[in-house]
Parts: sequence; C-alpha cells; structure tokens
Amino acid sequence: MKFFLLNAVLFFMPAIAFNQTRALKAFPLSSVRLLNSPFRQAQETDLKYMLSLDADRLLAPFLREAGIEPKAKSYPNWENTGLDGHIGGHYISALSNMYAATGDTRILERLRYMIDWLDKCQRKDTDGYVGGIPGGKKIWGDIAAGNIKAASFSLNDKWVPLYNIHKLFAGLVDAYNIAGSTKAKEVLVKLSDWFVNITLKLTDEQIQTMLRSEHGGMNEAFADVAVIAGDKKYLELARRLSHRVILNPLLQQRDALNGLHANTQIPKVIGYMRIAQVANDTAWANAANFFWNTVTKNRTISIGGNSVREHFHPANNFSSMIETKEGPETCNSYNMLKLSKQLFLSNASANYMDYYERTVYNHILSSQHPAGGFVYFTPIRPRHYRVYSQPQQSFWCCVGSGLENHGKYGEIIYGHNDKDIFINLFIPSVLEWKQKGISLEQQTSFPNTERTQIKLTLKKPQQFAVFFRYPSWVRDGMLKARVNNKDVVVKRNPN
Ligand SMILES: [Zn+2]
Repeated sequence: MKFFLLNAVLFFMPAIAFNQTRALKAFPLSSVRLLNSPFRQAQETDLKYMLSLDADRLLAPFLREAGIEPKAKSYPNWENTGLDGHIGGHYISALSNMYAATGDTRILERLRYMIDWLDKCQRKDTDGYVGGIPGGKKIWGDIAAGNIKAASFSLNDKWVPLYNIHKLFAGLVDAYNIAGSTKAKEVLVKLSDWFVNITLKLTDEQIQTMLRSEHGGMNEAFADVAVIAGDKKYLELARRLSHRVILNPLLQQRDALNGLHANTQIPKVIGYMRIAQVANDTAWANAANFFWNTVTKNRTISIGGNSVREHFHPANNFSSMIETKEGPETCNSYNMLKLSKQLFLSNASANYMDYYERTVYNHILSSQHPAGGFVYFTPIRPRHYRVYSQPQQSFWCCVGSGLENHGKYGEIIYGHNDKDIFINLFIPSVLEWKQKGISLEQQTSFPNTERTQIKLTLKKPQQFAVFFRYPSWVRDGMLKARVNNKDVVVKRNPN
C-alpha cells in the first residue's frame, strides 16, 4: 500500500502548483493610482493618443457591415485592407483600462459612444452579429454550413476574421469586467449566442480545421463569457475552440514551437489557462505553465521579448535575432504578460513576477514613444532603428495592443488573498483597499535607486501580513527591510 501511495503523491506533484491555497486575487485597476514616474508619463501619453483617434472612423467598418451609412471614412492601413474593425475592439479594451486607471470622464464618454453604436449595429438584424470584417455575413454563413477553407493567415479567403472578431469579444469582456458597462455585457452575450449558432452544426474536426487560421484567444473569450453569463454552454464551446495541435504537445510537456508564428500561439495558451481556471482543470493549467516556462527560459531575450520576424526560431540558436530587422514583437510581450499574470494569480510564485517586471520595464514601457506612437518590432540588430506608429495613419496589431498596454500598469503591482496584501512590483502608486479600509502608498524611484518605501494608513487597527516579492536580481541575504525604523529579518521563502 505504501508503495502505491508514494506513487500517487509523485504523480500528482504538478497539481500542487495550482493549489487554491496559493491563489491570489488582483485588485481592480480602479483601486490603484500611479504616482509620478515613467509609467505615469506613459499612461498620460497613451491617454492623449486615444483621445486623438476619431471614434466615428474606428466605427465605420461596423456601421458599413450593418448597412448603416458610416459617419466618417474608415481609417487607412490595416483598417481598410481587410482587418477592418480590429482596432475598434482593441480601442474598447484600451478605453476600459484607461477609464479604470484614471477615472477620466472623457474616456468614459468615448467608451459609451463606442458601445452605443455597436449596440445599434447589432440591432439592425436579429441574429446577434456585429463586426467590421468586409463581407462578414457571407463568410460566417458559409462557415456555419461547413464550407471552411483555412490557412495560417486567412479564413475563406479573408484576412483572419476570427482574429479580428476576437478583438471585439475581448473589448466587450473588458468593457464589462473592467469598466462595468452593462450594455457591453448585453452586446457580448448576443454576439456569443450568434457564434454558438455559427458553430452549432460543425463537427469537432471542422472546428479544428477552422482553428488553423489565426484566431487570437477565442477560447479565452468564451471561458470569460461562461463566467459573465453564468452558463456552462460557453465553457463547452471554449474547449471546442482550443486548438489541439498546439495543446497536445504542451499536455505532454513538450516544446514543439520551432517555426510557429509566435503571436498566433500565445493567446491560445492564455485561453487554455483561462479554461483551466474556470473549470479547475489541472492538466490544462500545467500545459499553460509548461509553455510559459519554455518560452521565458529558452526563447526569450533580456528585454523579455521573443521571436524573429514574428516566428519562434530554434531555441538553441539566437543568431537570426541579431541579424534581422524584425526582432521581438510588442503583441507577443503584451500576451506573455497576460499569461504571467494568470499564472501568478493561480500560484503566487515570484518567478512569474520577475519575468513580468523585466518585460514591462524593458520592452513594454519602451515600446511607446515619449511623445506618442507605438512600435511593432523592437530590433536587436546592432545600430538598427525603430518605426513608431502615427495616430491617423498606422493601424497595425501592435498599435491595438499598444493602446491597451500603457493604461494597465496598475493591474498587478499589488495582489491579495482574504486578508493579506502582496507587493509584486516596485512602481510608485497608491492602493485603496476599500472593503478593508486600508490605504497603501508606495514611493520609489526604482530602478534609479534600489529601494522602495511603503506607507500604510488604516481606518481601524487590524492584523494582516504584507508580503514583498524577493526579486531574483537581489542576491540571497542582501535584501534589507525596516519597519517603523527598526530592522527586521528577511526570509526568502516563501518568495
Ligand atoms: Zn503585433
């Protein structure tokens, strides 16, 4: 008996990594305000860029496809050459983040305006569809009938329609979850039901064929909708929308990523992890964790970015990274941070936040020009240069994820369980934990100085722990802490 017991314990070892006792919650973005720092400046720069964009031009593809005369001309670049409307989805996520992070009412008005028009477009028909994809109604009809023609960057001869509509799903999820828009929830649930109908008669095999085409995190979106709508039918669809060709090697803890388009894969893995959280599925969580480990440990450079010309190169040869004009893509790091946050909240290990810190300081923060504009690639090629987006001209994927990035620096500086606070990042900010009557102010000029100062203000006396991340860049025994001017003993474990 003992022998078997031991085996059972060993077999279930990975499950411990996702034990609920080590799970944390993030504070809502609206509970954290940034204090003066390069992060706060980046947030302000991004806010100006957002307001400089014309909502009517971003909405034009949605109105056109709904049969409503657009109020302005579509934007150019990727916005009128096939990926029409993708920035609209990102914009809704970005506005939601920025409103929560700043409380700026101009941003809220813009968000409401976007959602109101999407609602009007959706009401033009009874099927629940709304989207900017050129000729979308026709191709979705063909797909529902089982006529599917999928390649990496096309679906039924259109430019990645699933990727495009995923941005709208994600935007609506964020507008409800982060900015509290109930109208966004209504539009989202109708849109989800439309997609349930599109896929209703498709076999699992047909869905897997469809998923050969880049599709963002459609599985993540449906796992979110399952929680928002409180209906498991969406979770079932989330599983069906999980691309098995990528999932299966990860379930076996095998890295089969060489040559794959990086940013097509990362959102799928975010989806596996989201499903794992909602369904309490340890195997899928471990698959996502394995992906994170192999990408961050074997495929990532110092700034936290990965890939060359958008693709994963052989893990044992980084020479192409130095030669190419197209180094790490901003979207990849945006998505790796999303995955890191999910994993950290499931298992509060400092590893995830060490990577998050490295990437948010060295890649994400630097991907926005101090005067506005976002980069696509951050070339590592010596003496190379970067290209920044122009507000009324450039509408690449990394403009979409870029708009989102700089409004959510407060998303994981702090975390909590039922009673304790976790300080994960050293970014100057104020946290208000309203339910507990706790206010926490962090002042630091890190990385210019290697220290941070925390001030707690309590409405009433109470007992709780404040955990600090012990950063990997501080050697054992070198971290010093003082509480009310008295030295305290610092332990590295738990980290
Ligand atoms: Zn991109």
